[in-house]
Amino acid sequence: MIVSLEAGADAGAVLRALTERGLWIRETERRADGSPAHFVIAAHSAAVSLADLGAIAGVSSVTTGKSGTPLVEKQGPRVEVAGVKIGGGARPAMMCGPCAVESEAQVRSIAERLGALGVAFLRGGAFKPRTSPYSFQGHGREALAWMRKAADAAGMRVVTEALSEADVGAVAEHADLIQVGSRNMHNYALLKAIGKTGRAALLKRGLSATIEEWLQSGEYLLAHGASAVVFCERGVRGFDDATRNILDLGAVALLAHVHAVPVIVDPSHGAGRRDLVLPLGRAALAAGAAGLMIETHPEPAKALSDGPQAIPLGEMDALLRRLASASEASS
Ligand code: PEP
Ligand code: MN
Repeated sequence: MIVSLEAGADAGAVLRALTERGLWIRETERRADGSPAHFVIAAHSAAVSLADLGAIAGVSSVTTGKSGTPLVEKQGPRVEVAGVKIGGGARPAMMCGPCAVESEAQVRSIAERLGALGVAFLRGGAFKPRTSPYSFQGHGREALAWMRKAADAAGMRVVTEALSEADVGAVAEHADLIQVGSRNMHNYALLKAIGKTGRAALLKRGLSATIEEWLQSGEYLLAHGASAVVFCERGVRGFDDATRNILDLGAVALLAHVHAVPVIVDPSHGAGRRDLVLPLGRAALAAGAAGLMIETHPEPAKALSDGPQAIPLGEMDALLRRLASASEASS
């Protein structure tokens, strides 16, 4: 946003008026006499109305650049995916399940349990993005069918990742919500292919993606035909390995309250520790998250991936209750 000054305006007074409103000003070019001709407002400033800024004495005009994400803006804070409302004050959408779908029997028993607890979405990876090529890569297409069957039997919806363009068709056939993994947020060919299916997408934030880049990737999905986009904060790369990632709840508040888009939080990958899932889940809901993605496993010690962050399935009931009471308290 650019705030232009009238010739002879008291630049100091205008600057004070802007600062008072919580705005950060970037250094700008000056007139020949050394006074600023306009102020450029940095993106991390508070939200204000153009009319309010235009009314400040000494301001001649206020201009904003054209939005680069019109479809994300138009979508608004609430979407509906397979009959489940997400965001805009709807009850938090829970997406729970194993990191990876390990067997047909495993995913069936997990879905039975979670469905009975009222969890709306069954999560689980059929195609796993693993750091090591020697780690379990997922059961692929077979696992998609297991998941769909298990979710249908339990009255749940399916959210699962499409790891490559080659899998998109099969994933779209079985999933209600197609997950774009963190490592693929910048994979524009994949985003286009997922958009073209017309399905809703869950867009995880890239490992070191800026908010602007994340929103732009959401725009890619919508521009190519996705029926809805739900953003998912899952922690970003930081300087400290005390937690697996750094869960950016500032970004969640910004997306929920300023950009007004549906955003959920994945505290499992965010911290990488099961003991932090409850406090971070609570904090996420308080910050404006429209739901949570949580990994669970019947026997975390035997999980083929991400065991240390999985909540034992038998403890999900208590966890969900405690999260629900936190969300009531913060609404
Ligand atoms: C996942 O949710 O299974 C996953 C791999 O997450 P991320 O892309 O956030 O690492
Ligand atoms: Mn995982």
